[in-house]
Amino acid sequence: MSVAKYKHIFGPVASRRLGRSLGIDLIPFKTCTLDCVYCECGRTTNLTKERRDFFDPKEVLAELKDWKEKGNEADIVTLAGSGEPLLALSLEEIIRGIKEITGLPCCLITNATLFSDQAARKAALLADVVMPSLDAADEATFKKINRPVAGLSFAEYLEGLQLFCEEYRGKGRVDLEIFLVPGINDNEDQIQALSLLSRSLHVNAVQLNTAVRPPADKDVRPIPREEMEKWARYFIPKAEVIASYHSAPLKEAKAVSEEEILETLSHRTMSLEDLVEAKGYKLEDTEAILKRLLEKGLIYSRTQDGKDFFYV
Ligand code: SF4
Repeated sequence: MSVAKYKHIFGPVASRRLGRSLGIDLIPFKTCTLDCVYCECGRTTNLTKERRDFFDPKEVLAELKDWKEKGNEADIVTLAGSGEPLLALSLEEIIRGIKEITGLPCCLITNATLFSDQAARKAALLADVVMPSLDAADEATFKKINRPVAGLSFAEYLEGLQLFCEEYRGKGRVDLEIFLVPGINDNEDQIQALSLLSRSLHVNAVQLNTAVRPPADKDVRPIPREEMEKWARYFIPKAEVIASYHSAPLKEAKAVSEEEILETLSHRTMSLEDLVEAKGYKLEDTEAILKRLLEKGLIYSRTQDGKDFFYV
């Protein structure tokens, strides 16, 4: 059975950080507490901080059960996708269900803005790996880079993240992701402040990212690798620059359908190389399908730094 049958499950994709990561999307496109200038999913169309169930959690878990029963495999299940997963009210039930059904560890990729909510923190405590974001060390930069929903202050966000890290200590791994945007937070004062904050949070690792994929705001450019390495040395221990894939094909190259590529691209903008490496599809098939989908007007492409990225 094709994974394209599923509404909430995507992948597994070869994640640069997690191995074969099966994604679960709990949030409709594009619902988030933030509207980050660098977001690779595009602009946030539903900017909200109200936690609620956008989908029935039973529907999500039923898909996962079906996926498991078909003998599919992955290394980890990751909650991510078209928006902020902490917005899903039944997150705790879903994480418990993921572990029960798959027996796999669970990773939560979050912008951390809802950790001020006690129930959201309680749910996140069940994850084995948490990857929160922190791109700013002050209110003005937070507004500039993350463009939060009205009523969400930097102070509230930081306090929630601090509380979560405190409560989570000894329970799992926290990899803090910092996204660097030229002209906003790529200067010595900002980096020093972010380094200090990361140390006070006692996270396991700091990972630096930059816009290597087409961002929401097309004027946002990636920071060159050498510069990223320079900023990485401001962190103790040194941060890891994760702004590129180090993935390997999952299996021998296999055939792929238009439907599968459309489904994958509906969750994430990807290049031809991303699709081939992440899914293990035959290069020639993928190339031909992308061409057909472009001709039919079902997908679009954007070029960044000489590389074509495709999106629905
Ligand atoms: S990058 Fe993450 S937090 Fe920022 S707008 Fe996109 S989905 Fe939301």
